[in-house]
Amino acid sequence: MISDKEKPEGTPKILPLCYKVAEHENIIWVCDGAANVGQIGHQIGVLLTNMDKARMCCTTAVAAGSKPHLDIAARSKKNIVIDGCGNRCASKVLENAAVKIGYSIDISKYLQKVPTLDIYQADVKRIAEIVVKEAHL
Ligand code: SF4
Repeated sequence: MISDKEKPEGTPKILPLCYKVAEHENIIWVCDGAANVGQIGHQIGVLLTNMDKARMCCTTAVAAGSKPHLDIAARSKKNIVIDGCGNRCASKVLENAAVKIGYSIDISKYLQKVPTLDIYQADVKRIAEIVVKEAHL
C-alpha cells in the first residue's frame, strides 16, 4: 500500500547519484507532459523515488544525448517509463537511444487526458499503485 512518508519541512531528502547506483536501481523516466496525465506521471516518479522504490532520472538529458545519462539508462537494473498518453514520448526517447525498457505505462489508459496542470493526489496514488504492482517494485 502506498502512503506518504512524512518528513520534517526544511530537510530535503538527498538522493543517491544516478550514475553511482544505476546497476542496483530501478530508474524511472517520466515524460513530464504539460497536461494532467504528464504531471501525474511526474508526481508518480517523485513519489516512488521518495519511497525508495525507484530513482527518477532526467529524461530530457537522454533526449539531448547526454552521455552520462545514456550510460545510466544502459546500466540501469530496470528502466521504468511513465508516459502521459499514447504519444509515448518518454518511451520514444529511450527507444531512440536504443535503451531497453523493462516496464512502461500509458497513464491515459487509466485517466482521461485533460489540458490542465491541476492534478489530484488520489490519482497519483491510484496509478502509482498500478506501477508498483505491474513493475514489481
Ligand atoms: S506522452 Fe503525451 S503527455 Fe507525455 S509529453 Fe508526450 S504528448 Fe505530452
